[in-house]
Amino acid sequence: MDFDIDDRMQGFIDAAAAVSEELAPGYQQREKDLVIDPELRKHMGAQGLIAPEIPEELGGRGERALTAGMITEQISRGDINVGYVQVVGSLVGQILARNAHPEVAKTWVPRITSGEDIVAIGLSEPTGGSDAGNPDMTAVRRDGGWVLNGTKSMSFALHAGATVVFARTEEGRRGRGISAFLVELDRDGVERQGTPDMGTKCVGRGFVEFTDTWIPEQNLLGAAGKGFTEVMQGFDFSRALIGLQVIGAAQVTLDETWEYTSQRMAFDQPVSSFQGVAFPLAEADTLLTAARVLCQKTLWLKDAGRAHTKEAAMCKWWAPKTAYDVINQCLLSHGQFGYLTTFPIEQRLRDVLGLQIGDGTAQIMKLIISRNNVAREFAP
Ligand SMILES: Cc1cc2nc3c(=O)[nH]c(=O)nc-3n(C[C@H](O)[C@H](O)[C@H](O)COP(=O)(O)OP(=O)(O)OC[C@H]3O[C@@H](n4cnc5c(N)ncnc54)[C@H](O)[C@@H]3O)c2cc1C
Repeated sequence: MDFDIDDRMQGFIDAAAAVSEELAPGYQQREKDLVIDPELRKHMGAQGLIAPEIPEELGGRGERALTAGMITEQISRGDINVGYVQVVGSLVGQILARNAHPEVAKTWVPRITSGEDIVAIGLSEPTGGSDAGNPDMTAVRRDGGWVLNGTKSMSFALHAGATVVFARTEEGRRGRGISAFLVELDRDGVERQGTPDMGTKCVGRGFVEFTDTWIPEQNLLGAAGKGFTEVMQGFDFSRALIGLQVIGAAQVTLDETWEYTSQRMAFDQPVSSFQGVAFPLAEADTLLTAARVLCQKTLWLKDAGRAHTKEAAMCKWWAPKTAYDVINQCLLSHGQFGYLTTFPIEQRLRDVLGLQIGDGTAQIMKLIISRNNVAREFAP
């Protein structure tokens, strides 16, 4: 494995760290505003901090997936929710760059990397997210294109200019006969409704309902009926990125907690001098370091063109759980002040919790790991 950071990569990390510093003071206000300022996205895009791994001809920087991961962690230190702009940008940018009609890719991918727009991704439905290979949404051919009917659940439902969706186009067993499409969200028959989430409020998550929504043939992504198998591979990338997103939020909380506990006095000494306070933080430091290495290794495997589905699933269940546990411990180490909404810790706890569910739950990730280790008939 080679995680060596060259000057170019360091430049992106430094730029992301600088943006993170700018983001941090507005983290709680963004939750109240219920939106990420589009100018902020453009500021990130101008510095190559959204989907930097996209080829230059589509508006990216041709960087490694590992660079995208390191940017994600830095940005998420300042605001984990702004981290979604990079994670969803990398996930969808890559899906479009690989599978979209060249005209569609040329229109939408540069909008993502520049921060001009967001393209969401709707795989889950109100009727189910885990069984993603069995959607209720349908698409049928009509008038030189496709007509979509169904409802999808997605991050950025309220703010995206377009979304990728998965719909059944042919009869078939689970995962077969599903096609992926890009749908512009200003088309007829599209209705959006926000969900009253306990966290990640500025990400504008919600349900998008499509009623007889027509899209042209060129909006089909990949081959008809093969959308699930082909396009779903993109999730191996986002799972490692989400791992680094939550690690960013947990690491900054841990750094703040070392600082706080070394200043806070009890029994005439700093509370960090009590093993009961310091050792859980030392354990947290160890766990975050291990989780970071797992995520970076997964991205390194991706960059090397090697299989990484199993490792990506490990990142997706373990990093959000670890980050949640670490932030919970840090909140307790702050005593009553950790419980105040004036401190960012409780918000980070709520925001990280969402990513134990989003992009697939721990149970589904453990199914993937099991099925990579034993034959299908011996796995859950
Ligand atoms: C913050 C956040 C962001 C999200 N962003 C997006 C997005 O951008 N795009 C998108 O498409 N979706 C998104 N989602 C939806 C998310 O992907 C789904 O909620 C998730 O996949 C789980 O689906 P579900 O809620 O329908 O739960 P269900 O599928 O109904 O599952 C309910 C429970 O049963 C368990 N379960 C189900 N099947 C099995 C099984 N075979 N074995 C063991 N346990 C099982 C699950 O783990 C879960 O605990 C987001 C969700 C959140 C919270």
